[in-house]
Amino acid sequence: MKRRNTESKELVLSILSNSTKAMSQDAIERKTEGKIDRATIYRILNRFCEDGIAHKVVADDGKRYFAICVKCDDPSNLPNNHFHFRCTECETIECMPEIVKYSQPENYTIKKVNCVLIGVCSECA
Ligand SMILES: [Zn+2]
Ligand SMILES: [Zn+2]
Ligand SMILES: [Zn+2]
Repeated sequence: MKRRNTESKELVLSILSNSTKAMSQDAIERKTEGKIDRATIYRILNRFCEDGIAHKVVADDGKRYFAICVKCDDPSNLPNNHFHFRCTECETIECMPEIVKYSQPENYTIKKVNCVLIGVCSECA
């Protein structure tokens, strides 16, 4: 049971690592080809987000997309403190290198940043 759990985690991790774009849970599930059930994938993805391995983006299409963290662990950044780009043609989300800059209103605490730019990517242009 323990071993299967590790195998499932490794499979989800490799799927995410092999994608240059953020993936929706549905897309990840399709890639597992039925090897892992939906609830387990959900649990693994949330675990990855808690552990700082991946981060999630909630896009304006209402879907949640997951991406592997690259340089997201910089302590000067909030988790997920970068822009994301959603292509309306191929329905993908990409992590953009630009850090989101903002000023924090007095007495407000910011816990998350969820910035999504919407348009057409270079591949679909
Ligand atoms: Zn991240
Ligand atoms: Zn596109
Ligand atoms: Zn990202």
